[in-house]
Amino acid sequence: MNAVQVRLCIAGTWRDAADGVVREIRSPFDQSLVATAAEATAADVDAAIAAARTAFDEGPFPRWTQAERCDLVDRVADLLERDAEAIAAAESADTAKRMVEARYDVADVIAVFRHFARLGRDLHDRPVDVGRPEIASRIVHEPVGVCGLIGPWNYPLLQMSWKVAPALVAGCTFVMKPSEFTPSTTAMLMGILIEAGVPDGVANLVLGAGPVAGAPLSSDPRIDLVSFTGGLVTGRRIMAAAAPTVKRVALELGGKNPHIVFADADLDAAIDNVVTGVFLHSGQVCSSGTRLLVERSIRDQVVDAVVARARAIRLGGPHDPATETGALISEAHLTKVQKYCDDAVAEGAVLRCGGRRATGPGLDAGWFFEPTVLDACTTTMRCVQDESFGPILTVEVFDTEEQAVALANDTIYGLSGGVWSGDLERADRVARALRHGTIWVNDYGPYRPEAEWGGYKQSGVGRELGIGGLHEYLEAKHIWRNTTPARSGWFGSGGATA
Ligand code: NAD
Repeated sequence: MNAVQVRLCIAGTWRDAADGVVREIRSPFDQSLVATAAEATAADVDAAIAAARTAFDEGPFPRWTQAERCDLVDRVADLLERDAEAIAAAESADTAKRMVEARYDVADVIAVFRHFARLGRDLHDRPVDVGRPEIASRIVHEPVGVCGLIGPWNYPLLQMSWKVAPALVAGCTFVMKPSEFTPSTTAMLMGILIEAGVPDGVANLVLGAGPVAGAPLSSDPRIDLVSFTGGLVTGRRIMAAAAPTVKRVALELGGKNPHIVFADADLDAAIDNVVTGVFLHSGQVCSSGTRLLVERSIRDQVVDAVVARARAIRLGGPHDPATETGALISEAHLTKVQKYCDDAVAEGAVLRCGGRRATGPGLDAGWFFEPTVLDACTTTMRCVQDESFGPILTVEVFDTEEQAVALANDTIYGLSGGVWSGDLERADRVARALRHGTIWVNDYGPYRPEAEWGGYKQSGVGRELGIGGLHEYLEAKHIWRNTTPARSGWFGSGGATA
C-alpha cells in the first residue's frame, strides 16, 4: 500500500503545516508507512479557528434552512456510501483493526449521518402556553456557534461522526482534530464535506499532537463548544482549559465497565459475550466489559471457560481472514498495558492466561498483547479501578444481587455495563440500579444512533447520539411576543399593579 499524504484543511483550502513538518503514521501491525500527516503549528490552529469563527459570524451556513442542512448531511452519507470500501481500508491501515470491523465502523458512520439528517427534519419550534391569548411564546433552536471537535484513535471516524453530523444539522461551524495516530479517515471525511457542498470555513481540519493542535480548541475564546472523546486525564485538562471562557463542554471519556453474570443466566451465551465484550478490538473500546462479576456458585465454570476461550483467540494482521483481533495502537500503549498487568499481579491478582506481549510468526513486528484474565481481584485493586484500554479482564465474585450492584458501581467511572440473568425482573432491577450510561441485559455491546450514549460520573459530561446528541449543538432560545402591547404599569404607579 502506498503511503498517503494527509494535509490540513482551513477555509476550504488544503495546505501543509506552516513549518512543513510531517508526522509518519505507521501500521501498528507491521510498522509499514501508512501515511504522512501535516503536523499543525499553533499558527495553523489559529487560522482554522479564525476561519470557523468568520464562517459562523458572517457566512451563510448558520442561516440555511433546517431542510437545506439536512439535505447536505444526507449528501454526505451518500458520498460516504460511495467511498465506504476505501475509507474502511484507510481506517484499518491506521488502526490495524480487521477490515471486517472497519467495514462495520463505516456502515455505522453512514447510519449516524442519516440519523441526524432525519432528526433535523423533525426539529421544530416549541410553543410555550403561558395561559394568555395575547402572548405567542415559543422556544426556537439555534446553533451553539464554533465548535472544537477532538477525537480518539480507537474508532477514529465513528467518534468524529458523532460530533460532525449533529454540528452540521444544528448549523455550527467547527475545527476537527483527530488523534495524531489515526488522521486518514477524518481527512477523507473533510474531502467529502467539501464535495457535498459544505461552505468554506464551516468545516476545518487540523492534525497533530494534543498540546499544540488540540489544546487551543478548549481554551480559545473564539470557540463556543468543545466536544472531546478520549481519556479521563485529557478530559479533565480540557474541562479546566474551557472554564475561563465558560465554553459548553461535552466529554466522552473512559469506562471500567462491569459485566455481571448471575447463576440463572444462559451461561453459554453469557460466556461468549464476556469474551467478546472484553477482547473485541483487543480491549481498545471505551465500553469494553473489563470487569467480570460472577456469582460464586458458577465462578469456576465461567472463569475456566472464559480462560479457555481467551487462550484460543487468534491474533494477526488486518487482512488475514484467520485473524480474530489485532494489535494495540502503539508501542507506548503496549508498555502501559504490560505495566498495568504486572502491577495487578504484584497487587495479588492471579494471572490465569496472557499477561505479556504476544510474539510468533506474523506478530513480532506488531504491538500485540495476549488476551489476559486476572482472577481473584478485589475492588480496591488498581486493575479493577483504572482503565487499561487493553485486552485484560479482571474477575470478582459476588454472593447477592445487592453485592453485585455495589461492586459494579464502585468505581469513578459510569459508562456501560452488562447483566446476565434468566430472571428478567431482577435483571431490570439491576439495570436500573447501575450508575452507568448504557446497560445491556442478556447481551453486550450493541448501540444505536437513535439512542443516547454517554457516561455517568467521571465517564463524561453530556450525551452523544439520540436526540440529546443534537441538542448538545443547539441553544434553546425563548421568544416571548406580545400581540397587544401595553404599559407594564410597574413604576410610577406605586409599585406592582396586581
Ligand atoms: P487521549 O485522551 O490520549 O487523546 C484523545 C484526543 O485528545 C487525541 O486527539 C489527542 O491528540 C487529544 N489531546 C491530547 N491532549 C490534549 C490536550 N491537552 N488538549 C486537547 N486535546 C488533547 O485518548 P486516546 O488514547 O486517543 O483514546 C482512548 C480513550 O478514549 C480511552 O480512555 C477510551 O475509553 C476513550 N473513549 C471514550 C469513548 C466514549 O464514547 N466514552 C469512545 C472512544 C474512546
